[in-house]
Amino acid sequence: MSSAEWEAVVGLEVHAHLKTLTKMFCRCELEYGAAENTRTCPVCLAHPGALPVPNGRAIEMTILLGLALDCEIAEHAVFDRKNYFYPDLPKGYQISQYEAPLCGPGRFLLPTADGEREIGIVRAHLEEDAAKTVHSGGATGRSVGADYSLVDFNRGGTPLLEIVGAPDLRSAEEATWFLRLLRQTIVDLGISDADMEKGTLRADVNVSVRQRGEQGFRPRWEIKNMNSFRFIGRAIEAAFRQQVEAHEAGEEVVQSTYDYDDHTDRLTVHRSKEEADDYRYFPEPDLVPVEPPAELVERLRAEVPERPADRIRRLADELGFAPAAELVTTGNEWKAEALAAEGVEWKAAAAIAMNRGGFLPENAGALARIVQANVTREALDEAFAAAAEGPIEADDYLARTALGDEDELVPVIDAVLAAHPEQVETYRGGKEGVLGFLVGQVMRETQGNADPKVVNRLLAERLRRE
Ligand SMILES: [Zn+2]
Repeated sequence: MSSAEWEAVVGLEVHAHLKTLTKMFCRCELEYGAAENTRTCPVCLAHPGALPVPNGRAIEMTILLGLALDCEIAEHAVFDRKNYFYPDLPKGYQISQYEAPLCGPGRFLLPTADGEREIGIVRAHLEEDAAKTVHSGGATGRSVGADYSLVDFNRGGTPLLEIVGAPDLRSAEEATWFLRLLRQTIVDLGISDADMEKGTLRADVNVSVRQRGEQGFRPRWEIKNMNSFRFIGRAIEAAFRQQVEAHEAGEEVVQSTYDYDDHTDRLTVHRSKEEADDYRYFPEPDLVPVEPPAELVERLRAEVPERPADRIRRLADELGFAPAAELVTTGNEWKAEALAAEGVEWKAAAAIAMNRGGFLPENAGALARIVQANVTREALDEAFAAAAEGPIEADDYLARTALGDEDELVPVIDAVLAAHPEQVETYRGGKEGVLGFLVGQVMRETQGNADPKVVNRLLAERLRRE
């Protein structure tokens, strides 16, 4: 039996910090990087008698996400207590949603180079994040060498969106692609920064394997709290390899939580998986059920912008799948669209969007004129730099056209060829890659003012001629 007959079965649970002004159940400000334990109150520190009040904006944001994922929006959602003990959980329970989440089943149509794959969304719900434990020798630097841990309660009570995806992903590549687009969807909705480096986006990854055509699922491994696309991809590949090895050797694959070690590129058992029952979920007695009015849901539906997956499908018609996907997942597509709308050819607009820094949308028209006017590279650099700062006038740059006049360029080109006989020899020996070097020399001689397209053509002509 070869590993070619096995396929990965991957499901993601994604957590995103919502970008509300205040916490989920109290009025404490949310501020990334604030001094430790300065954003706390009796509610989020769980003083006796303190009562939670839900953050309405967080509920709206969760519904927005649900609408973008084609989820059923609950008419009756319930907050539950998820009971467990941990030092960063002062109440001894986390307020979450269990049987009646805000968003029910939905789907994500994942665009790929070969068409479309439907990835199921099981649910999306709202909960509060725990506080942050800083282990000895940790981030503050204060406790280096100490044998204790500190808790920063600023994060405790941050509204946390949890999106549970179905185990419909079939490779590491597909899983990370899905996660990239899901992240972009969240960012475009304006509900979270979804920044893995800052910890505002984290993913739990479930991986099992099965043979192609096999129905049902084998035991899965869960890797929790992943915060890097690269490590998620590598962890899935490692889990796939290890599980296939175990199955083929007739060893038992135990369903459990695993840790991924990037140095050894292997997973090791973390701790045995708690069953859901261990948490003794029960409805939160201090909160009434959430019943979003139909008018609210309809108003929010109208607020959902074009989804990144839809945008890729649309742009792929102009550009092909890969460039469209790159533009959208880097957040650069609006620049290409703005330039294309002003008449710049699509492929050129896409290249400019990827390679140039940002510019103010109001400058798209002026930039389109400058780009199409064949101005010098220097003028182009200055125009884009200025266009990021404030309004620009195309006329300030249009006079600085690139040197495209053959009579002016030919003497420069001949001088460059005469000065670099070795490269000329190399080119004529069949290594045409050296042309780039010669173009660079001409550009240098003309202080970047020559039109590179014309230089390329003239150089090639003269190199072939002799
Ligand atoms: Zn608070």
